Amino acid sequence: MHIGVPLETQAGETRVAATPETIKKLIGQGHQVTVQSGAGQRSSVPDSAFEAAGAIIGDAGAALGAEIVLKVLAPNDAELAQLRPGAVLIGMLNPFDNASIARMAERGITAFALEAAPRTSRAQSLDVLSSQANIAGYKAVLLAAHHYPRFMPMLMTAAGTVKAARVLVLGAGVAGLQAIATAKRLGAVIEASDVRPAVKEQIESLGAKFVDVPFETDEERECAEGVGGYARPMPASWMTRQAQAVHERAKQADIVITTALIPGRKAPTLLHEETVQQMKPGSVVIDLAASQGGNCPLTVLDQVVIAHGVTLVGYANLATWVPADASALYARNLLDFLKLVIDGEGRFQLNLEDDIVAACLMCEGGRIVRTNG
Ligand code: NAD
Repeated sequence: MHIGVPLETQAGETRVAATPETIKKLIGQGHQVTVQSGAGQRSSVPDSAFEAAGAIIGDAGAALGAEIVLKVLAPNDAELAQLRPGAVLIGMLNPFDNASIARMAERGITAFALEAAPRTSRAQSLDVLSSQANIAGYKAVLLAAHHYPRFMPMLMTAAGTVKAARVLVLGAGVAGLQAIATAKRLGAVIEASDVRPAVKEQIESLGAKFVDVPFETDEERECAEGVGGYARPMPASWMTRQAQAVHERAKQADIVITTALIPGRKAPTLLHEETVQQMKPGSVVIDLAASQGGNCPLTVLDQVVIAHGVTLVGYANLATWVPADASALYARNLLDFLKLVIDGEGRFQLNLEDDIVAACLMCEGGRIVRTNG
């Protein structure tokens, strides 16, 4: 089949949906690949490297006009107009953006949003949320270290001893666990909290302390079980006790990294202004939930602000700050998804019996297949 890889045009997007490694494999499987000139530039892949892997370098029209189009983000209207009806589009298309999915359906394309894949063992190799959140968690710690006016590790020098930084991680999913691991490597002392009690063991195995907020009612316990592994909004009673625990821990902390998300909803508030007010001067908050409204009300999307002497970093999508590896992992996720929608003869197949394919399918033949609104 003819596979197209366009340049991502959204401001701040640095990633590309294929790499020479994945293109070589696609060509080995008998496909033809057109990459838009410059598509890999911001992730350190020059056109010549794509060409050497066997891709044809073309313009936007050639890449967007392919039978299968691999994207990082959902296409804008101008890009959508260049997709041919019946084309297959695969990317992080935001399954909660019903208006965008409706526009894709109107265009008559078949679109798969990989963020909607189930979080199962079989889906692990194509789990774009995990591959990108892992990078965001890593970069969050490096950004924190950059803004923090002190050392991270404990140091004994001739000029005296420096204490290790205390890091508090709120939300210990993929990003939070990687933040813990990275902060640990830098020598910090770490505490972490999550609604899901199952993560206690994972937090402790990384050498951090679990901040426990015990459940007091069946409703709290049931809510914490979540849906499909994802958190649900917790009852106000638990959130109040969690805020108290966070308040006490944050006052002692030097760096707070917040990652708590609830799919399709505004991020929960975990770090209140009264808590930030009492944090030490020079402390740093990295709010990875900034694009979902933030876990702290003082976070400003895509900005670094100082409030009550605390630096709050609200950059969205930190995976774009590590573009080469973010693209490499994302491209491998796409390659693995393609295996599910291309048959043994190298043709597109829509097998809705496959739970991953069915979950990711957003529209087909002009019809919206799934909405999350
Ligand atoms: P996420 O990005 O949706 O949320 C980040 C974390 O915030 C989660 O751990 C969530 O529990 C937590 N959170 C939400 N509300 C909170 C609150 N009020 N206080 C504290 N923490 C709060 O999560 P994710 O990293 O995408 O992981 C989602 C699920 O997927 C998890 O259950 C994870 O174990 C699972 N997962 C499975 C696989 C797999 O088997 N393929 C791979 C990765 C993740």
